[in-house]
Amino acid sequence: MKTFALVALLLSMQTFANLHLAPPTLNLERSSKGIFVDFKTASSVITYDIKTRKALATTTIEFSQSVAGKPIFDLVNNPSSLLIDGVSAVSKTTSMNGVSKVRYIDKKLTIGNHTLVIENDITKNLSWSSTYVRSAFWMSDLSDRKYLEQYLPTNLEYDQYKNSFEIKIINSEIEHVLYTNGDLLEISKNHWTVSYPETFTASSLFFHMSKKGLKDEKKEIYKSIDGREIPVTVYTNQSVNRFMSSTLRILAELEKDYGPWPHKQVIVYGAGSGGMEYCGATITSHSALGHELTHSYFARGIMPAHGNSGWVDEAIASWRDGGYRSYSKRSLSKTIMASHSTYQRTTDRNAYSKGMKFIGYLHGKFKEQESFKVFLKSFFETRKFKPFKTHEFKSAVEAFYNTTLTNEFDTYIYGRNGIDKSDIKVKENAFHPHLSSKELFNLL
Ligand SMILES: [Zn+2]
Repeated sequence: MKTFALVALLLSMQTFANLHLAPPTLNLERSSKGIFVDFKTASSVITYDIKTRKALATTTIEFSQSVAGKPIFDLVNNPSSLLIDGVSAVSKTTSMNGVSKVRYIDKKLTIGNHTLVIENDITKNLSWSSTYVRSAFWMSDLSDRKYLEQYLPTNLEYDQYKNSFEIKIINSEIEHVLYTNGDLLEISKNHWTVSYPETFTASSLFFHMSKKGLKDEKKEIYKSIDGREIPVTVYTNQSVNRFMSSTLRILAELEKDYGPWPHKQVIVYGAGSGGMEYCGATITSHSALGHELTHSYFARGIMPAHGNSGWVDEAIASWRDGGYRSYSKRSLSKTIMASHSTYQRTTDRNAYSKGMKFIGYLHGKFKEQESFKVFLKSFFETRKFKPFKTHEFKSAVEAFYNTTLTNEFDTYIYGRNGIDKSDIKVKENAFHPHLSSKELFNLL
């Protein structure tokens, strides 16, 4: 029994130990090593004080490292205090191969488990009035360091860990509302706890808090094909009924193609612009709604482990937008969508057009057997909530159709036979327009 319990414990610990997906160790100053680590849990107490107009987060992170060295995590702003295993320490940022930056604790740690406590001010996408506060953790996969690290300490996208929040708004009489994709418990007015699934990564979490009643809201229950009753929440300044009816229709379409909705809930913020996906949630325009909900299967159901696998989900969602067309080999372009630096954290924008055509090409190639959607459903079922890299996607297609696609991937995805000149002119995608800081702020 003891052995069984130990084995079960080891297995459960291994489930989300994703260190094999982490980038290579970094060389820091004075020949010290920056070590990628495995977050076990993170819990934040976030206090919004209306009087002082400050949002302060205190986050406790339990992590383990398998090599001695300076542990890497990320937080864009400087923390106001940092304790490692109970002792005060400092953190610094460093470049990752010139394509991104991360933060590390400037202290060499031993192999094993450690506890990190960080205090930081949340300053982005935060708007104060004299009586209430609006706060959102908007994210983007098209610019660097635009996931949870903008707001709270987190790991890179390869890692999955259980996150929990306690949120308090103090010195406010106004009732607030919190839209978030975790298990939400209201303790009292303006005081909540939220627990997020252990499958979440830095790009999974949707968080939007505002004054209650500022936007129209509608709630419905969607009956999944697997029998679950899934709560659907839609809120918007536009037509809440239009967003709700479209959401319910698209859910039925996606479940028919790809199986049961993979999340516990659906949250749609009909912002009228934007377009960003989260696990079972989105901020979106009405026209991008289908695209963004598709991402709850491909992007936030099957999850990219890093920037070089981000093209897959944009290609799939865009292929659906275009009506699941076939494309010939002649229409394809040579790209390096999956050959950027292993440290890159963003998605190549070629995914929407050239990646989409590549998926349409695979569909055309195999459609005598069946629609490529059948493969995608199978890939989704086997890889759900397990971050993947492009080579695993390639192997899965090859195994499914009992073929080899090395030439196609080398030429059109890995750029091993050069890049088409048009590769440098990348059109902006209508569903994920680049929004300025001001535009994102205005969506609060
Ligand atoms: Zn997209």
